[in-house]
Formats: sequence, structure tokens, C-alpha cells
Amino acid sequence: MNDQTPKTPTPEISQKLEQLRLTVQRASYAYYVLDAPTMEDGVYDRLYRELQELETQYPELISPDSPTQRVGEKPATQFESVRHNISLYSLENAFNMAELQAWDEKWRRFLGNWAAEDNNYICELKIDGSAIALTYHDGILVRGATRGDGVTGEDITQNIKTIRSIPLKLHLDNPPPVVEVRGEAFLYNRIFAEINQERQKNGEPLFANPRNAAAGTLRQLDSRIVAARHLDFFAYTLHLDSPNLHDHWDCLELLPKMGFKVNPNRQLCQSLLEVQQYFNTWETQRRELPYMTDGVVVKLNSLSLQKQLGETRKFPRWAIALKYPAEELPTKIISVTFQVGRTGALTPVAELEPIQLAGTTVKRATLHNQDRLTELDLHIGDTVIVRKAGEIIPEVVRVLPDLRPTGAKLVTMPTHCPECGETVVKTPPEAVTRCINSSCPAIVRGSIIHWCGRRALDINGIGEKLVQQLVETQLVRSVADLYHLNMDQLVALERQGQKSAQKILEAIAASKKQPWHRVLYGLGIRYVGEVNAELLAQNFPSCQSLAAASSAQIEGVYGIGAEIATSVYQWFQNPANISLCDRLEQSGLQLASVPSTALKSTPQAQPFAGKTFVLTGTLPTLTREEAKSIIEKAGGKVTNSVTQKVDYLLLGDKPGSKLAKAQNLGIAELSELELLEMAK
Ligand code: NAD
Repeated sequence: MNDQTPKTPTPEISQKLEQLRLTVQRASYAYYVLDAPTMEDGVYDRLYRELQELETQYPELISPDSPTQRVGEKPATQFESVRHNISLYSLENAFNMAELQAWDEKWRRFLGNWAAEDNNYICELKIDGSAIALTYHDGILVRGATRGDGVTGEDITQNIKTIRSIPLKLHLDNPPPVVEVRGEAFLYNRIFAEINQERQKNGEPLFANPRNAAAGTLRQLDSRIVAARHLDFFAYTLHLDSPNLHDHWDCLELLPKMGFKVNPNRQLCQSLLEVQQYFNTWETQRRELPYMTDGVVVKLNSLSLQKQLGETRKFPRWAIALKYPAEELPTKIISVTFQVGRTGALTPVAELEPIQLAGTTVKRATLHNQDRLTELDLHIGDTVIVRKAGEIIPEVVRVLPDLRPTGAKLVTMPTHCPECGETVVKTPPEAVTRCINSSCPAIVRGSIIHWCGRRALDINGIGEKLVQQLVETQLVRSVADLYHLNMDQLVALERQGQKSAQKILEAIAASKKQPWHRVLYGLGIRYVGEVNAELLAQNFPSCQSLAAASSAQIEGVYGIGAEIATSVYQWFQNPANISLCDRLEQSGLQLASVPSTALKSTPQAQPFAGKTFVLTGTLPTLTREEAKSIIEKAGGKVTNSVTQKVDYLLLGDKPGSKLAKAQNLGIAELSELELLEMAK
């Protein structure tokens, strides 16, 4: 919890607050007025929260124009502005269950001891569209308006009338003189994708998401365009004085009878636990909905409790939005470290202020290479946006330079290897900076770990700690040394017992039976992954034949490109590598195939040749690695990002955000069964 006692601001705090306020203000204008957001909602929410917290600590710094002090923005459009009969409010956000609990305690405290013990909550989906206020006089729609800043909105009656699910006349025999209905106008994902395709064709800027597209559509001056876009509407608030309406649920039941669509996925909950279950269900099931939702709205059911609680300047006290976890969030760069991989590549890694992102704590994120550092113009202390979508390693997406502290230091690649101190090299056009000292401990360690990996020589029991000891004590300088280790040497190492040493020696001995293609993969030649190693081993049944091949002969293997061929050829030109192979062969490793396995791969045997796949969700029987291997063996490629180049989305249970992206791009979906059929 934050200390709520007001503090006296330092100049740094004033500067930080001003920077934050400006950033949030700009984003808010781009979002509400221009319908063209400049950042992800999750990022905005986090910065907004940071601003709110600072303002709570330093109330004297609150300015009336701060985004925390008002609802939305006053829109700058050509529509007539109208004053709402009853103000429209935003919703307070909760980003986790603890915040929901805190909200619950807060409203109970507000009511003093009066708070109803047996209160019910209504959970609704938070539809990601645009709020609309509808006014009916004697049952006839007389006005439709946007929320605007909550007090005044734009009169968009003409456009509202094109939405077929909004009744122009209420289905009531004796309509009261005035009825106010509020709800969300939204676009279906399918239509959103079509609109963007059309805009792309016409060279127009694309809408960032269905919500902004819906808001932009409602502000179209030509109602025919609005009609063509098929907006829909879910009603969620009814302002009507009636002795028959006791709670919110009654209103939601009456609205359909009046001719409105109400979202069917609402639920009456008796406890916060039930609310949590509803949230958990929809956090996954929302992906199956044909429209976007960005959380659930929790409301107190009793209208009399709602009335007693009333509203703050911005929010009703009786409702809260429980947001789905964001996949992108802002955080700060504490420092940048440089990791040296087994190929000598130096990878800059951002050490971050820890954040909870997509269910895990993220403390580090990759910065890839020098080119990426230059592109980001990264400084220590910068606020950056970090993304972790699905299973992908967290990465820094961009920097928010407006929030940079004064005097922040630019991040550049080191000139010397942080592990061995040798000068590093970068050969354009390669983006990677490398340590080229083949005895650099980081490279040796990396190559041993790779060699022992499950998919290479599969030597169990040799973990990172042991590898570090083996390299430090110089017992192992290359993978060939593993085959000369003995019991005495192993047990002399710290924390190494006789039993586990025995197992390690057995695992090392067993690895001598691994086939040639595994050995080839284990050698860690650049670009030679499992699939390429198999292809090469099928076409060059011995290490000797591969070492004697020209670059052109290697490239002649179906599926092996020029870059791979050059890399393999060059690797065998290095005498140190030839002597490594000789030593391995002398130790009894399989550097040649058993003749019967020497198959030739043919293009006909490759049903997925030239096809790119993306995987999402959990498959019924296959692991991701198995699915990947099936695709690759059938000539296909698996990538992590959904782009127009992707041909198929392999869809499992509980898919990630890739599904929506793929649907937006119209990418074909495949089930595991279909994949297996096609791969046959
Ligand atoms: P909001 O969208 O978070 O919540 C309030 C709105 O929820 C209501 O006005 C209503 O339109 C909608 N809603 C949907 N379903 C509802 C239901 N069942 N019951 C009641 N209301 C329902 O709040 P806001 O003030 O409209 O906007 C703030 C949000 O907008 C922020 O949380 C942020 O995510 C986003 N935003 C993003 C940027 C950006 O740069 N990306 C900038 C400004 C705001």
C-alpha cells in the first residue's frame, strides 16, 4: 500500500509528475479525440495509475486539467455539442483480485455500518466500444449522444439511427415521458478487419482496434458510411423511475422487453469468489466472442445501494472494471548487461524494475543487438514498454522518451567481451556483435550445454553449474574433453557425489550411441538446427563426406539455403574443428550414418514446402516441439509472429492473442488432426 500522507515535492518529483501528466494527456487526446491511440491501453492504464499515485502523495501538484481529474476529453468535432441529462461516468479500474477486494472494502466503509451483508453483484462483460446515451421522449428516440467528457457529448442522433439494434420507438404500451438508456456501440471483429482492409487498399491510416474504429465510425459525417459499417449496440443502464425496478438485474431484464439487446453473458454473483470465477472464465472464453472485451464490469445490484453510494467526479462508487492482464506494460531500465552466447554473440539484456506481465514477473528483457539499441535510442533510467505475448521471451518494444530523466546515459555495446576481455567484432551487414575468441569461457560453456541438450547428445545430469565448474577448472576445454573425464576428477569438484558422478559418466558413455545427425546438431554450427542437421546427415552420410563437400554441393541439398551452406563449409575449413571431429570419432562417437538410414529427401515428400505456421494454445496430444518437428519435417516453417506471410495458424485449446491477430489477417486455422492429415 502507498503512504497516503501528503509530502513536499522535490524538483525531481515535480519534473517527473509534469512529464507523466503531459504523456498521459497526449495519449488521451490521441485516443478520445483523434481515435488514433499512440500506446496500448495497458501501457496507458499503468502510466495513468502512476500519475494518480504521485498526485495522491503530492496533492498540491494536482492541476485541474490533469487527466485524472476528468472523464475522457471534450471532443473536437463538427457535431453539435449537447449537455447530458444525467452525467456519464468512466469506471474505476482494478487490475487484480486484491484491488477488487480493496474496492469492496472501500464502498462498505463509505456506507459505514449500514452496508448490506447479503449484497449481490452483477458481473457483465466490459464491451470494448464507445459509450452512447439515448434519450426517449414518450417512447420515441429523440437524441443519441457520445459520452464526450461526461458532461457534454456530441449529438450523433442521425448516426445512431442507423444502428438496427437501437429501437427508434420503445416496445412499451404506455411509455413514460422520459427514458434514458446507456450502452456500448461496438463493431464485430470481422467487420473491423474488413474496414481496415478497405482502408489499407485506399491508402488511409488503419484503426488501431475495434473500439477506436467504432468511435471513429460514430463520428462520421455521412450517415450512409455509418450504416454500411453495421455497428451493434448492447444496453447496460436504464434510467427510469419505476416502483417495479429494485435492482440492476431488473433493469437488465426490462431492457430487452423495451426492444434493446443486452449482452447475454451477465451473471448475478453472491460473493467476490463467484465474481473471480466469472472473471477467470471470461478471461479465456472472451477469445471466442466475435467482438472485443477488455475486462468485466462488477456492479452492486441494489439500486438503493447505488443511489446511496453515488459518484465521485469520475466514477460511480458502486461499480468497478476488472481488467484483463495486459501483454504490454511500461517499466524502467535499471541497467543493461551483455550476455555471451555459445556462438560468441553478445546480447544486450535489459535489467528491469520487476513487473507482472501476462501472469509472470518480468525482470529482464532482450534488447537483441546494437542495431536495436540504436533504433531504440535507449538510456539507463528510461521508461520502456515491455511485451510478453504468449510464450515469447519478453522484449522491449519501444521507449517513452518524454519520461527520460535528465542526464540519462546512452546504452552502447561494449568494445570488449565481458567474459574474456578480448576485443569484440561486428561485421556489417550482420547486426550481431561477437566475441571471436573460441576459448572464451562463455562460448565453451554454451557449446557444452548445447552438446548435452536433450535434442543433441542428451547427456543427463550436466547442468549449468557443473559446466561452469568443468570450464573453470579447465577439465573441459571442448566437448571432446567430456569423453576423457574420470571419476576422480568429477568427485573432486565441489558438491559432486560419487553416485551422481557415476550417472554422469554413464550418460556420457551412452551418448556415443547417438546417431550422426544428432552429433552434427550438437556441434553447434551456425544455422544448423535439428532439421538442417537431419537433412545434411541424410545427404552426407559421414562427417568426412560433409567436410569434403564444396559450398555448392552443400547448397544442392533440398531445403539448405546459401547462408547455411556457407556457414557449414566455413566451419569445416577451420583445422581446429576438423581435429575436434577426429577426437570425437576416436572416442567412439557416431560420425557416420548406418547405411540403411541414408535416405534422400525429395521435394515430393514435403507437403508443407514453402508454408509458414504459427502455433497457439495447447494441442490435444502433441507438445509444441512435436508439432514443430512434424511441420519442419514436412518442409514447413514455424514462426512466432503473426504476419501476412503466415499461411496457417495451428490452433489449440486456450489460444493466445495470436488467434485474434490471425483472424484479423484472414489466416487459415488448422486443428491438430488436420495438421496430421495434411502432413501424411
Ligand atoms: P473505460 O473504457 O475503462 O471504462 C468505462 C467505459 O466502459 C464506459 O464509459 C462504457 O463505455 C464502457 N463499458 C463497456 N461495457 C460496460 C458495461 N457492461 N457496463 C458499464 N460500462 C461499460 O473508461 P474510459 O474512461 O472510457 O477510458 C479509459 C480507458 O481507455 C483506459 O482504461 C484506457 O484503457 C483507455 N485509454 C487508452 C488510451 C491509449 O492511449 N491507449 C488513452 C486514453 C484512454
